[in-house]
Amino acid sequence: LGILEQAQALIQQIPSSVRVDHRIRNALIHMWGKVGSVDKAKRIFDKISQPDHIGWTAMINSYGLNGMGDEAVKLFYQMPKESIDHLTYICVLNACSHSGLVDVARSIFNNIQTKTEIIYTTMIDCLSRRAAFEEAQQLIEQFERDHAPAITIYMPLLSGARNQKYSKLSQEVVDRMQKLFPNMKDSLVAASILLANVYASSGDIGKATDIKIELHKSGAKKRIGVTVTDIDGKLWKFRAHDRSHAESAEIHEQVDRMSKRIIEHGHKYDASWIVRPMEPDETIETLLCGHSERLAMAAHFIRNRKPKRIQMTKNLRICGDCHEVTKLVALIYQCEIVVRDANRIHHFHLNGQCSCQDYF
Ligand SMILES: [Zn+2]
Ligand SMILES: [Zn+2]
Repeated sequence: LGILEQAQALIQQIPSSVRVDHRIRNALIHMWGKVGSVDKAKRIFDKISQPDHIGWTAMINSYGLNGMGDEAVKLFYQMPKESIDHLTYICVLNACSHSGLVDVARSIFNNIQTKTEIIYTTMIDCLSRRAAFEEAQQLIEQFERDHAPAITIYMPLLSGARNQKYSKLSQEVVDRMQKLFPNMKDSLVAASILLANVYASSGDIGKATDIKIELHKSGAKKRIGVTVTDIDGKLWKFRAHDRSHAESAEIHEQVDRMSKRIIEHGHKYDASWIVRPMEPDETIETLLCGHSERLAMAAHFIRNRKPKRIQMTKNLRICGDCHEVTKLVALIYQCEIVVRDANRIHHFHLNGQCSCQDYF
């Protein structure tokens, strides 16, 4: 789940005699990394006199997940060569990808003997995040020369094109995906949603609407977004526009209060992240402010007036507007916020920046 308090409670139940076991320590490094407590993971890693390949890889991954690419790479180069395996390569490339370290990633990638689909995908992700689209496409071609085409490899290219609002490239990628993988409906729906988002954010509302109508007609269902968070030892679950809690009225009032302050700080709602048709009684503001992450944050603020740290887990990717809003909430309210979404961990710092440096 990635919930800090639960992790802490769990560890207290492990007798200290067992805590020194290699496997337990490796699992703890992994767990602390996942909940965003890299310093705790590192403390455990440092206690292991001779870490095995799992320990090294878990620590590299902890850094990577939390946007500390330089540390991940440093550790990778300290790692004994014979311990490096397939998973290590994925973790270090992923760390580079999430910190924008393209040159380092390229040199690691070029030295890998057996390059699998996941390794290619991770490298293409790294290039696409930095808008190196030509090189990313060349890698896809290189991959397809000696492998059967794989749909997963196209998704990072599409995400990258979306982040840059390149509608032409996005359309080309989606066309190719539809041609190569006509039966992979779930992935094609995800791709079409991204494509609609590109058109909407580059001002072509007509095309965006066409795609949404098409999706609607084909009966494609978007997965429902859920945010889970721990408040005073109790798990709270929120869907978008959730009114199922006893405190719901209060929570929505708090969202309104927070939105007002965020707007005062210059936030402008980004309607391009809205991927479904609007109902007549909805506005851009009511739609975005109902996202489950905001309800979860608001619940923390009404339960504990001045929370210092908020931790939550979202089953889908956080949208760009919620990402901006969370940065501002961390800054304005001086509260550290950690969001684990479907893709990565976002560490929103008190200075209003996120560990992902907005590559998400
Ligand atoms: Zn959102
Ligand atoms: Zn982020």
